[in-house]
Amino acid sequence: MPQTQISCPRCRQIIAANVEQLFDVTYEPAAKQRLLSGQSNHARCPHCGYDGRLATPVVYHDNTAGAGAVDRETAPDDLGGCAVGIDQTE
Ligand SMILES: [Zn+2]
Repeated sequence: MPQTQISCPRCRQIIAANVEQLFDVTYEPAAKQRLLSGQSNHARCPHCGYDGRLATPVVYHDNTAGAGAVDRETAPDDLGGCAVGIDQTE
């Protein structure tokens, strides 16, 4: 997973975190699990001990879920459970 340099939400020191903003599960089905399980967009700061989610808006693509692309921008916390906002009406 790519490591991105961010500033810690608490102490503002530069730390490395797994930041992903585009989840395209059409190409990478594992991305969905990574997002829902909190492996992505999670910061652990060695300076102040902060350990939590980052408030990063994400774009979620799932072309396998139905007709057309689902293009949704949301905060990670909105994805609790499996509610990814896919409403399939055929
Ligand atoms: Zn910190």
